Amino acid sequence: MQKNNVVSFVASEKTQELMSKELNWCKREKTPQYAKWQAKDGDTVITLYESGKVVFQGKDADLASDFWLETEKINSGKVSVKSSKNKDSKKIPQVNPKIYYTSSIGSDEVGTGDYFGPIVVTACYVEKENISFLEEIGVKDSKKLTDNDILNIVPKFINKIDYESIILNNKDYNKYYSKEINMNKIKAILHNKVLYKLKNKISNYEYIIIDEFAKRDTYFNYLKDSSNVVMDITFFTKGEDKHLSVACASLISRYIFIKEMDKISKNLGINIQKGAGDIATAQAKEIYEKYGYEKLEEIAKLNFKNTEKIKGLI
Ligand code: MG
Repeated sequence: MQKNNVVSFVASEKTQELMSKELNWCKREKTPQYAKWQAKDGDTVITLYESGKVVFQGKDADLASDFWLETEKINSGKVSVKSSKNKDSKKIPQVNPKIYYTSSIGSDEVGTGDYFGPIVVTACYVEKENISFLEEIGVKDSKKLTDNDILNIVPKFINKIDYESIILNNKDYNKYYSKEINMNKIKAILHNKVLYKLKNKISNYEYIIIDEFAKRDTYFNYLKDSSNVVMDITFFTKGEDKHLSVACASLISRYIFIKEMDKISKNLGINIQKGAGDIATAQAKEIYEKYGYEKLEEIAKLNFKNTEKIKGLI
């Protein structure tokens, strides 16, 4: 038996405007009382009331509303949802087929929480024809993957998709990092660079998705002095669940990061660890004693607390 789900939230002017435009094609001729319009998209009936309240009704109401809830979150910073979904249906992964099954571009980064090793940002283009292949080789569950899984999976698809990566080594990171240029600004600049490069190669994408690390306005504010700013971006938290281009971007970034960490480890004769905890601090002290501060400048993010801590230990 199919359940009639109901999801509702109050939409900002901006979201209302977007919805009205986006759903214009399926608006109904008759409008219920107190409603601005009503539309029927697939099995879902969507009603926008004069109060600004939007109601999604139908068995796929939660899926149909997902994109608009995200949009509202981006536009207003928050959204309070009322849903008739029972607890069981919450276990269903929240994939919005209108985004998931498209040919889209996505980007993600790695290394920003690691004391050692570079920051790597990748943008990928995944065509909808490649989705089932990528799911099959295990791209979908990338969060659960170990380093070994990543070393195994990435070579299986890296030559089959278009991507752009950028590696920011710590020598440059330490040069750029300052009060004015914080980590998020660095991320924004790097994301924009790879997206711009990839976008120039791809003309038929539907979305450009960034795994959200800053609010839309803040992101573009970070880029106010940059040239070639890619504007048509959709920001999603848990982006890698929304489209496999983000999952692939995350995997390729991690793949490159692992390889870079291996190079540094071999070079030092110390198997340097990810993260920024006590192990990283202990290893930093060892490196400092063996090779001096210049080495740390090359391979570590000096603004991290670990640097202060080793100063205490020396
Ligand atoms: Mg991310």
